[in-house]
Amino acid sequence: MATPGLHEVAMSSRTRIVLAQPPFFRIFGSHNNRGPLELAYLARRLDDQGAACTILNLDRTDATAHCTWRNLFARSALLHAALDGPSPLLYESAERILGLAPDVVVLSAGDALTPWVDLGNAFFAARLAELLRRQGIRCVGIGSRFGTAPQARAAFDAVVDDVFGAEAVSTVLAARSTRPWTPAPPLLAADATGSTWDVIMTSFGCVRACSFCDAAAQPYRPAPPAVVAADVEQRADRARLDIGDAIFLARGARLAALTEGLDRVGRRPGFSIELSVDQVTPGRLAELAAFGVHEVKIGIESADDSTLRVMGKHQRAQQIRTACDRVRDQGLNLTVYVLLGGPVPDSANAALRTLDLCRSLPADDFVINVWAYNRPGARPTDTHFSGDLVEEYGLTEVMEEFFALQAPAKLSIGRLLDIA
Ligand code: SF4
Repeated sequence: MATPGLHEVAMSSRTRIVLAQPPFFRIFGSHNNRGPLELAYLARRLDDQGAACTILNLDRTDATAHCTWRNLFARSALLHAALDGPSPLLYESAERILGLAPDVVVLSAGDALTPWVDLGNAFFAARLAELLRRQGIRCVGIGSRFGTAPQARAAFDAVVDDVFGAEAVSTVLAARSTRPWTPAPPLLAADATGSTWDVIMTSFGCVRACSFCDAAAQPYRPAPPAVVAADVEQRADRARLDIGDAIFLARGARLAALTEGLDRVGRRPGFSIELSVDQVTPGRLAELAAFGVHEVKIGIESADDSTLRVMGKHQRAQQIRTACDRVRDQGLNLTVYVLLGGPVPDSANAALRTLDLCRSLPADDFVINVWAYNRPGARPTDTHFSGDLVEEYGLTEVMEEFFALQAPAKLSIGRLLDIA
C-alpha cells in the first residue's frame, strides 16, 4: 500500500490536515448531517502522531427535515450534472477547505466502516482533488467508493485502498512513530461543522460475503469493550445510538463485556443494530433487548431465490418472515432493507415477488435500494437511488408501490417531507 502523500508529512505538530467529506446528498438537494466516522477514526490516529486535524462534513446543512427517498430517485440525474459540468458545490467546497490553509487534505468517497451506505462518490471527490491540487495541496483519497471507481484515483496523490483505510493509515504512521499505537475512539472533537455523531462501531468488517457489498472483503475485527465504552461516553448528549456494525455479532461473554464497559462509564443509551436473518432467535432478541437494543434492521434484500443466490445471501422468504415476526414479538422496532435489480435473470418479476413479501412483513419502515455497486458495467453516476438503474432493471412501474411502504419519519433522522 502506498500512502506517501500522508505519512511523509504527518509527523510534525505543525502539519495541518483537513479531513473532508465532500457534498453528496447536497448534490441532490438534500443533506447528510451524520459525522464522517472513518475520517474521525483517521483523525484520532493522525492526532496521535502530532498533526493538527480538522474534520469538515461538507454534506451538512441546517435543515431539520429530509426529503423522501422517492425524491432522491427522482432527482438522481443531478449527479450527472455535478460530475460533468460546473458545480457550485465543488467551488464552495474548495473555498471552505482552502480557507483553512491545510498542508494535506483527506477526501472521502463513501466510508469503509459502513460501506453498505451511500455516503459519497469517488468521481466528485476526484473533481475536488483536481481543484485542490491545482492550488498546490496534497490530496489523499479514502473510502469504500474508490474500490469500485479505479478511474477516479488518478486525481489524488494517494488513495488509501485498504479494506479498513483508517487503520491502514494509522498502522503506517504508527510504524514510523516512536510512540506505540493503541486502539482509541474516533476524534469527534476535530469536527468543525457541527455534525451529528450518533453512530458507533463495536466491530469492523463482516463475517459474510454478499456479492453486492464492499464489507464482504473486510475481515471481522471486534473493538475492545473499553474503547467502545469510551466512544459511547464521549456522546453523552445522545439518548439513542446506531451501532454501525455490519451485523451485530456480540452475544454471551462479549455482550457482557460490552455491558460492563458501559456500566463503568455510566451510560446505557438505546441502540439500533443490524442482524442477519439467521441470527434472529427469540433467545438472542431477549438478550439484545436487555442490552438496550430497541430497533433491529434486517437486510432481507429480495424474495426471489435466484436473486438471493446471486447475492450470496443464504436465506429464504419463509425464514425472512419468521425473523421479522420474532422481532415484532419481542416488541422491537423493525426496519427492513431491500435491494432491487442487479445482474439477475428477471429483475422486474423478482421485484414483484419482493413487493408481495414486503407487504406481508410487520416492519415499521422499508429502505428501498437498487443494486448499484459491485456489478458488471457499473457507472460513475450509480447510486442506491439511481433513476437510470430503475429503468435499466425494468422497475419503473413498481417503484411507487415500494415507496408507499416507507414511513414518514425515521428514528435516526426524523421527519421526511415529499418535496416534488
Ligand atoms: S451481511 Fe452481507 S450485506 Fe450485510 S454487511 Fe455483511 S457482507 Fe454486507
